[in-house]
Amino acid sequence: MERRTGYVWHERYAWHDTGTHAGIYPSGGFVQPYQTYEAPETKSRIAGLVEVSGLIDRLTRIRPELVSEDDLARVHTTRHIEAIKTQSSAGGGDGGDGFTPFGHGGYDIARLAAGGTYAAARAVMDGTVDNAYALVRPPGHHAEPDMGRGYCLFANVPVAIERLRAEGRVGRVAVFDYDVHHGNGAQKIYWSDRETLTVSVHQDRLFPVDSGMVDERGEGPGFGTNINVPLPAGSGDGAYWAVVEQVAGPALRAFRPDLIVVSSGFDPSAADPLGRMSVTSAGFRGIAERLRALADEVCGGRIVFSHEGGYSAVHTPYCGLAVLEALSGITTDVADPFALSFDASPARDLTPWQQDRISESAALAVALGLIVGD
Ligand SMILES: [Zn+2]
Repeated sequence: MERRTGYVWHERYAWHDTGTHAGIYPSGGFVQPYQTYEAPETKSRIAGLVEVSGLIDRLTRIRPELVSEDDLARVHTTRHIEAIKTQSSAGGGDGGDGFTPFGHGGYDIARLAAGGTYAAARAVMDGTVDNAYALVRPPGHHAEPDMGRGYCLFANVPVAIERLRAEGRVGRVAVFDYDVHHGNGAQKIYWSDRETLTVSVHQDRLFPVDSGMVDERGEGPGFGTNINVPLPAGSGDGAYWAVVEQVAGPALRAFRPDLIVVSSGFDPSAADPLGRMSVTSAGFRGIAERLRALADEVCGGRIVFSHEGGYSAVHTPYCGLAVLEALSGITTDVADPFALSFDASPARDLTPWQQDRISESAALAVALGLIVGD
């Protein structure tokens, strides 16, 4: 069934300047300058295919807006906001961990990214659209209250959620993060929050290496509302689909959110230079189809995707288009050329050792039912 799917993209997102690194390492000495992995093309080429495929004409364009300093301050410290703002007007700098470069004007582009996620979520909540995809940049899921990390300056998803809450538009929210890296930002921000469920599936101890373990469950009133699924390297479509069915499914049914927000990263792709997973575009389509069905079941179909990582500039466009097709129920004529090699690979299938890890997290989703049911 076709849906009214909202879509956010702004050319300004491609102007976020991450400089020249050898992928993740600063150039200099014996390190020859090259692109930073988090480069414009990994996102702008998704926007390109959305346009060239004709899908753009059947989506509802949503204009991103700048979030204010007050919006940022609901999630971030003044110290962090000022650090980004000052460096931004001085010509650029780093988000805080030494691996998050940004250029002149990066503060405003980051506010436009959070504002893209916000505008998409607001459109879903007020019924302008049924669901939405915010193709924003820079990403946000590693940003913590007091620092930027891992290419992220501000926490786009929490900043959007907290503004919606301040405006009285939403109560309980579930965040599901399938970027290959751990969603440490939302975990930290909502660690003690009973009204926000955070579920992250990621490659075990990839980044940050010291977070994302199964025993990190939140604390105080938020105990039980943080669920991690650290998958072994090599996991593919089957493992990710099983995570949505066996972990996200029971957790969302127990939690009954008003809105599902998805941190959408395409770095579990089999072609990604940073992740070591084996997900295909058909795999991402399957994830989105399952999440859309879960949203229908628990919250009237209200689901918004906010773009995070994904560093294969040649493969991400097919992953992004597949997700947008799944959300909208519209099929284009585009065939993923990578399917020729990826779809036939047994690496896509769920293995017993992946299932063992998923079962540990699935038990936490069942436990959540007991925790929120009392
Ligand atoms: Zn990532």
